[in-house]
Amino acid sequence: MNKRILLAKRPEGLPEESTWQLDERPVPTIKKGEVLIKTEYVSIDPAMRGWITDKESYLPPVPIGAVMRAACVGKVIESKNPNMKVGDHFAGLSGVHQYVVTNGQNWVQVHPDRAPLPKYLSVLGLTGRTAYFGLLDIGQPKEGETVLVSGAAGAVGSLVGQIGKIKGCRVVGIAGGKEKCSYIVNELGFDGAIDYKNEDIRTRINELCPDGIDIYFDNVGGDILDTALTHINRNARIVICGAISQYNSKKFKGPSNYYRLLTERARMEGFVVIDYAKDYGTAYQHLGKWLMEEKLKSKEFIVEGIENFHSAFLRLFSGKKLGKLVLKVS
Ligand code: NAP
Repeated sequence: MNKRILLAKRPEGLPEESTWQLDERPVPTIKKGEVLIKTEYVSIDPAMRGWITDKESYLPPVPIGAVMRAACVGKVIESKNPNMKVGDHFAGLSGVHQYVVTNGQNWVQVHPDRAPLPKYLSVLGLTGRTAYFGLLDIGQPKEGETVLVSGAAGAVGSLVGQIGKIKGCRVVGIAGGKEKCSYIVNELGFDGAIDYKNEDIRTRINELCPDGIDIYFDNVGGDILDTALTHINRNARIVICGAISQYNSKKFKGPSNYYRLLTERARMEGFVVIDYAKDYGTAYQHLGKWLMEEKLKSKEFIVEGIENFHSAFLRLFSGKKLGKLVLKVS
């Protein structure tokens, strides 16, 4: 049987367990040109919260009753497609289900002999590309500049900080709790960390970024974005990657300190990683090289069992995880 997570209803605020329905169907059969992929790992992403909201966005909302959209990696177990052999592994944007039939369009082959499969949803997947293009293309870091990044112990933020270090910047991260702050400084090499749950962010930015902020890479939005804006330097770049603090709010809280963009001739710019699809190969090469050289570390936090999808999803908002959140579904 094929266990699947369906979207049962549109949530208001933080999704409840009843947002989803666990369903079982016979494993689908394949036609000429298709393959059957057994999904092994599914990526759990903050973007999922946006995908279940009935609003225009960069992807259409997941319809009620449909399999929840997710990036995943899995193995071909049956093939009627000469380009995808049984035993090969592929990654693609598919869903939270144990089996999927595809003709292979938009799936890319991955190699578990080169890196463990969950890394293809993390540093070698969309997460790594988000950090790479967000910081390098939108942030335009220069040696000696100061980078502040929020969500710094998370999937994207932890890579942004390390790429900033590779580019010769001074990097300060904002994360929730002592353990995460210690992780980004002692294991990932950040120059400093601010524990936003227990410290005054404004005071700590003054202490840790005495020369101001040249790049603020924002994963969380809300008050942290507003506070960061008060510390930006002339010609600073504010990279709007995400706003997780607002995803469950009925009313999105925007920045009231935006006028600092004018006084500091600064630029605030959002981006969506899928717009960089034609350059994914370049990012993959650089990220893979840095990973092999151990200039980049990535941690995956793996939750077992498709039945635990909801509790895993909530960890994005409670922060009860370190690094990239991944669900093992088979
Ligand atoms: P993640 O950071 O691994 O997980 C979310 C983290 O956000 C949690 O671990 C938690 O860490 C923190 N958090 C949750 N609620 C918060 C709050 N109210 N205030 C401050 N921090 C909070 O997720 P990710 O995959 O790396 O994604 C990070 C951001 O990038 C998200 O906003 C996501 O939507 C965005 N994103 C954008 C793109 C794009 O193309 N633009 C692509 C991928 C991801 P703490 O324990 O530290 O609170």
